[in-house]
Amino acid sequence: MDFTEASNVAEARILGQAFVREHVTAEMVRDELRTGDGVSRPLMEAMGALGWIAPTWPESEGGAGLDQFQASAIFNAIRAAGGPMVGPGTTMLAANAIRAMGSEELKQAILPAVAKGELLICLGYTEPEGGSDVFQCQTRSVRDGDQWVINGQKIFTTYAHMADFCFLLTRSEPDSKGPHGLTMVVVPMDTPGIEIQAVRTMGYERTNIVYYSDVRVDDLYRVGDAGKGLHVMRAALEAEQNVAPSSRTPRLSDAAQEWALAAPDGRGGVMADDPVVRERLALLAIDAEVSDLLGYRVAFIEQIGGKPGPHAALFGPETYVKWSKEMIDMIGPAATIDWTDPEAVAGGVFEYHFRSAVASTIYGGSSEVLRSLIAEQLLGLPRSRPKT
Ligand SMILES: Cc1cc2nc3c(=O)[nH]c(=O)nc-3n(C[C@H](O)[C@H](O)[C@H](O)COP(=O)(O)OP(=O)(O)OC[C@H]3O[C@@H](n4cnc5c(N)ncnc54)[C@H](O)[C@@H]3O)c2cc1C
Repeated sequence: MDFTEASNVAEARILGQAFVREHVTAEMVRDELRTGDGVSRPLMEAMGALGWIAPTWPESEGGAGLDQFQASAIFNAIRAAGGPMVGPGTTMLAANAIRAMGSEELKQAILPAVAKGELLICLGYTEPEGGSDVFQCQTRSVRDGDQWVINGQKIFTTYAHMADFCFLLTRSEPDSKGPHGLTMVVVPMDTPGIEIQAVRTMGYERTNIVYYSDVRVDDLYRVGDAGKGLHVMRAALEAEQNVAPSSRTPRLSDAAQEWALAAPDGRGGVMADDPVVRERLALLAIDAEVSDLLGYRVAFIEQIGGKPGPHAALFGPETYVKWSKEMIDMIGPAATIDWTDPEAVAGGVFEYHFRSAVASTIYGGSSEVLRSLIAEQLLGLPRSRPKT
């Protein structure tokens, strides 16, 4: 295998870095640390102007006609600078499902504005009772003429408080169970009957509980056939599990090296002189490299139209948790001071990573669920739960 980076990918990275200098301001990064929204509207509009919200879509559809590697290089440059990228990435999961399965009318109503960075779509799958098993869905949708009437409750609907639409999983056949009798609807979030309550994670991310009470949505906003939401949902879920969620382990590794090269060791040298520190940093750098390579593997397999599986989505967050804890151990209590304190070690970066890491093993499929998928789909082991 040839690991040499293609010249068009290097060019994309340089473009991404130039974009960062112009658009990812210190104020934007601070706002994200403070709010945990995962969204910046000005950033999305600037990306949309270049076709970078949907970078792999053709230019005729508002994309930039890039390949997966170029798109990853650009997104990684923006993420590395602290640009909030949860919004664009998550919106595209719903947009790709609409593009694949929505009616022409719905596509016209939504996709051009998504590509311009004007529309934000959140994901409404998870419910308090069902958790990871989204097919336990109890949120009801009932057809009434040209409309659907929706009642129910979702949890962990990230950035619902800012979104224009929610890609919502509903049960439209009252006696159905599990993955049957479901219908996907994109609900305009300004519809009467929607109530949103904030939920904060220990990583200070903002997510939400959303209540739907007699929410009326035109049939135009149905995605795919009524009662066949499973097909729409499955494509969207696989896209999420296969995505390399751009592991933050490489960012942690860079920060660790920067710290070790500057922090005094109390003997006239720096921490990077200490053999124990060096060994740990080398092991961290190896995991960071593997995370990056698994991300490239995803891009490669998607490029040739295959299904990459959840290796990257599992390995990145797991190593991120492991090494964010190791860094606190290595530096000591001073590493737990957060970014708001001017005395914080390395601007509080290790405290931030330590707090943020755990949730990354839950969203987009928990580590246990992803391991289960690898065991079943790739190793051919028996299913861990009965088929419904
Ligand atoms: C910060 C954050 C943001 C999120 N954003 C969104 C969003 O925008 N939209 C959305 O719809 N959802 C979102 N989620 C939900 C997320 O994707 C998970 O699906 C959900 O959190 C899992 O439900 P639960 O936390 O109730 O855990 P449960 O599913 O109740 O799991 C409890 C434990 O059991 C394990 N477990 C569950 N099922 C299995 C299995 N089959 N095999 C082995 N082990 C299993 C889990 O790994 C976990 O350890 C978000 C979650 C978080 C924390």
